[in-house]
Amino acid sequence: MIALNSPVQPDLKKLLPYLEQINKNGWYTNFGPIHEEFRDKLEAYLGVQNLLLVNNGTSALQVAGKTLNTQSIITTPFSFVATSSAFLWQGNNLAFADIDRDSYNLSPEALSAAFDNGCTADTIVATHVYGNPCDVVSFENIAKTKNKKVIYDAAHAFGIKIKNNSVLNYGDASILSFHATKVFHTVEGGAIVFKQAEDYEKAKELINFGIKAGKGIQSIGTNAKLNEYQAAVGLVNLENIDNILEHRAQLFDEYCKGLKGLVEIPLWHPEANMNGAYMPILLKDATEREYISQKLLENKIQSRHYFSPSLDSVFSAQDNFGTSNSQHISKRVLCLPLHNKLSLIDIQKTITTLNKAI
Ligand SMILES: *Cc1c(COP(=O)(O)O)cnc(C)c1O
Repeated sequence: MIALNSPVQPDLKKLLPYLEQINKNGWYTNFGPIHEEFRDKLEAYLGVQNLLLVNNGTSALQVAGKTLNTQSIITTPFSFVATSSAFLWQGNNLAFADIDRDSYNLSPEALSAAFDNGCTADTIVATHVYGNPCDVVSFENIAKTKNKKVIYDAAHAFGIKIKNNSVLNYGDASILSFHATKVFHTVEGGAIVFKQAEDYEKAKELINFGIKAGKGIQSIGTNAKLNEYQAAVGLVNLENIDNILEHRAQLFDEYCKGLKGLVEIPLWHPEANMNGAYMPILLKDATEREYISQKLLENKIQSRHYFSPSLDSVFSAQDNFGTSNSQHISKRVLCLPLHNKLSLIDIQKTITTLNKAI
């Protein structure tokens, strides 16, 4: 079977000394030395500041929202369910606006139109879907003129830069997921990158029961800390991340060459690099998608309907400012195998199978 995804296996020889060190330290969680080393190395690697490690990407979204005091969001219906549910879970109001037909990211035009048509959301929550950066400049302009905050769900965008500047440096906060299925992982884990140092300090308190070091309980918090074991996995996986990103980008490239003229793929941001996080293709309609995924499976090739259904169908009681592109695309999109263990031969087989089936 050619698997859709295959988690990166941490190098145990490199992991063991860290675990021994943790025993020696007798310090297993609560911002320990391995956590601090991982945080510093990650900030340096990504080219960001004010990076807070958390226990998963979903808490990252929730803590970012609490830190910025978000009450009401407008977001994309074309994303993983957590982008919406994280905010609904903490009682925020939610509205959907449509995605761009070509990039499948939240559309600045749809966003502006929603605000002109009575949307009162205080925060824009946009996903860099498949790691492809949103139109961050347009969002920045909208946020400025309408006095809104911006949170980016960058769960797919590890290592993505726009003109050599990390995509995580846009917006008031960006979140990452380090779940085992992601390009870079700590088994479970995540991070928030804040624009403002004060927001980082506030969030650090919120993820530790509202306790500020030396000052006691300052606010109503939660427990969303990353522990020393997870930080150790992060340090080990970070050592190999350049090879992984390079390999995945090469695989993505190979797909693009082979699929040219056969199927549509999302229009990539012209100034951004690629991390090969996903390999989405757009098919003619739901019937063709069903047929193609069946043919792939017959040839022992996995595929997945990422992202489907359009989230406004799931959360249908929420405000909706028009989601027809998301509705259409979510019924036609299919993700092909793409992971670090995939070979060029696997990709050739997938492309050949797809070609025959279409
Ligand atoms: C994986 C993912 C999340 C959730 O991250 P977890 O670490 O699994 O909680 C959120 N948003 C998007 C877009 C994701 O792909």
